[in-house]
Amino acid sequence: MGLIVQKFGGTSVATPERIHAAARRAVAAKLAGNQVAVVVSAMGDTTDDLIALAKKVCDNPPKRELDQLLATGEQQTIALMAMALFAQGHEAISFTAGQIGLVTDNAFSKARIQSINKQRIFDQLQAGRIVIVAGFQGVTVDGDYTTLGRGGSNATLVALGAVLKADVCENYTDVDGIYTADPRIVKTARKVERISYDEMLELAGVGASVLQTRAVEFAKKYGVPIHVRNSQNENEGTWIVAETANMEHIVVSGAALKKDLTRVTIKNVPDRPGIAARIFGEIASANIVVDDIIQNVMDDNTANISFTVEHGDLNDIKPVCDRLCKELGAKTAPIYQGELAKISVVGVGMRVHTGVAQRMFKTLADAKINIQNITTSEIKISCIINKEDGHRALQLVHDAFDLGKSK
Ligand code: ADP
Ligand code: ASP
Ligand code: MG
Repeated sequence: MGLIVQKFGGTSVATPERIHAAARRAVAAKLAGNQVAVVVSAMGDTTDDLIALAKKVCDNPPKRELDQLLATGEQQTIALMAMALFAQGHEAISFTAGQIGLVTDNAFSKARIQSINKQRIFDQLQAGRIVIVAGFQGVTVDGDYTTLGRGGSNATLVALGAVLKADVCENYTDVDGIYTADPRIVKTARKVERISYDEMLELAGVGASVLQTRAVEFAKKYGVPIHVRNSQNENEGTWIVAETANMEHIVVSGAALKKDLTRVTIKNVPDRPGIAARIFGEIASANIVVDDIIQNVMDDNTANISFTVEHGDLNDIKPVCDRLCKELGAKTAPIYQGELAKISVVGVGMRVHTGVAQRMFKTLADAKINIQNITTSEIKISCIINKEDGHRALQLVHDAFDLGKSK
């Protein structure tokens, strides 16, 4: 007998019919002899709708209260899923994060999971019930609701998979698996059978929002295999697994686009040791992830420092940067330049093959797309471009590496 954790994303539980369809999947896994735990997201666009509702009441809602509100989305779905299973004649029990001691830190809106009390889940599985767990939410040690960042139900899935030592985490979504690029933007994108944790980690980090980065991090750390599948059909999806030797033959395995980036530039700060540490230390304390850092040293012993953040973090970063500028004696206020995007290619084969950067830069140059900044890792190359060029760049780069052709 195996143990399977399934997760159903928003579209896969958007209507009562879809909740029933998802419930049938859980039942099928149970009848095949497995113990089954199910993680669910909020129905359809519920999370977006709740955020919009909050903003109608308050421009910049306090994060604790926003999490209090958003957690209700997933709480609806768990109860409905348990009811659907009951209607289908099966025993099930639903749990909020608090009810299974899914404890996080208190970084509201981006909380990290610290522990899960697996005993309560095990007892219910042992009693033959299907266990339904609310994705995306956690509780602090004080019992306050937190959320795990957008796409956070993926993290709930993998964390449960890890603590329950599941044989597989099945991530049911609205596409057939992981593609060589977002199939909604690139029509020629191809589904891949397998992808390594490292590649998926990089892809998720640069815009492939099908999985949340933290979920992949967890999966890699605990060796939990993830199977990404379509909830609307029976097709085999994509397996996210540890790297194997033959993966190196494929130089580039995917391309991705991250939209809605903003560049922050802090001008004329003193050019001396400790300034960058202070700036980025304070930004990190505010739980904001920055990327694409550039520092230019000027003639007058000052430096200009710029970096990109996700547009959604602007409300959080502005007060920090405005204050830092004043404290460091910069003559001007920070500059915020929006409407940027990042195009990236990822592949473990880049460790042993050369020429990828050159081909990517030439493709963008031939299309007259200006590269504003370049960053690389061992298995990734990223270029900052104007947002308006984003979709075209993704298609061009995807085709330049023949990603649509089967390998
Ligand atoms: P869910 O609600 O099931 O979690 P999401 O909308 O969060 O679904 O994620 C699925 C979406 O991710 C797909 O509809 C697709 O548009 C997008 N996506 C982006 N990049 C990729 C990729 N490389 N492969 C598959 N899907 C991708
Ligand atoms: N409902 C949350 C969101 O929309 C979490 C998730 O679906 O993974 O981001
Ligand atoms: Mg998602």
